[in-house]
Amino acid sequence: MKTLPKPKYRLPKNHPRYESLITRELIVEGVEKGITSIHGLIAQGRGEAFDYLIGEKTPESALKAEKAAAAAFLLAKKPVISVNGNVAALVPEEIIKLSGLVNAPLEVNLFHRTEERVNKILMHLRELGAKNLCTKSDAQIPALSHERGKVDSDGIFSADIVLVPLEDGDRCKALVDMGKTVIAIDLNPLSRTAQCASITIVDNITRAIPNISKFAQELKISNEEALIKIVKEFDNRKNLAHAIDEIVAHLASRRS
Ligand code: ATP
Ligand code: MG
Repeated sequence: MKTLPKPKYRLPKNHPRYESLITRELIVEGVEKGITSIHGLIAQGRGEAFDYLIGEKTPESALKAEKAAAAAFLLAKKPVISVNGNVAALVPEEIIKLSGLVNAPLEVNLFHRTEERVNKILMHLRELGAKNLCTKSDAQIPALSHERGKVDSDGIFSADIVLVPLEDGDRCKALVDMGKTVIAIDLNPLSRTAQCASITIVDNITRAIPNISKFAQELKISNEEALIKIVKEFDNRKNLAHAIDEIVAHLASRRS
């Protein structure tokens, strides 16, 4: 787990919820820097509640989805990683690393879009070493209102695979309707995003991105057939049902 560069408040390392507190601090710092929207705090709170329900660790179903996501990325012709304000605050170095491993550019795509915030996130990513960025906003996702649907014609618009961490349900559906394979990271297995994505990873983004990178590193030496087999054998409906069963089992274990 990373530590904050300059913690504003002294966080006791032995606090039982240290990791969760650090994550909160990163989001608050993101809001203060102007890269995360104030609405991002609400999204994080909802995510934390579901993280509690899965036991704050990567469940087996998520590992399966993370492996399928890595295989899909390695097979992709034009993969893109979508970045919003929460992602930029929580895992900027990790998405830059994944971007390099699977050769997928990063594209800033915001629900509450302002050019100022897009530019701040781009600067933040560049400062951390990001080079492969899609920065135009010259295309429009059909069926989405103007600002919410702005994308890069050489990025998300023409991608075959898009990773959308912490996405809104509407936009996830619009991308699926465009015929794209959508990989979602969402701690809530019941959200519209989780339900409509092609590969849904029910895990905290702080664990999910490093896990996808680890699988991508391992699978890089695999041949195409082996990768196709992993993707074909992955059944998102079944895996989502498994994620819900794991929550139920975890809750049952806490009753005794
Ligand atoms: P939907 O529009 O898909 O039905 P929603 O309206 O419930 O979802 P949004 O606010 O649109 O939610 O998006 C935030 C989603 O991101 C929530 O489902 C939340 O559980 C999830 N989330 C928040 N923080 C994290 C995190 N750190 N890791 C993974 N998922 C997260
Ligand atoms: Mg929503």
